[in-house]
Amino acid sequence: MSPQGKKTFAMIDYEKCDPRQCDPENGKCPAVEACPHKVIKQLDGVFEQPMIFQDLCQGCWECIEACPLEAIHIKEIGS
Ligand code: SF4
Ligand code: SF4
Repeated sequence: MSPQGKKTFAMIDYEKCDPRQCDPENGKCPAVEACPHKVIKQLDGVFEQPMIFQDLCQGCWECIEACPLEAIHIKEIGS
């Protein structure tokens, strides 16, 4: 969190997200592997869309760069 009290976190666009396209063989989300803070997880298993624990997300962009479908975006809240 920045000194101004802003919070940035990643959000998944579930209209775009498709683990079958990202990893047709194993169904693993590359963004999950890329997150250094381990706050994006495929809770329902492989081939299922991941979710982000937004309270813990550091807004570091690693997952965004790892997502081939551009299904993850940064959102900023606060003032
Ligand atoms: S890399 Fe992106 S599109 Fe692929 S499963 Fe993960 S979040 Fe969804
Ligand atoms: S922005 Fe960083 S901390 Fe947040 S889910 Fe993506 S990789 Fe993980």
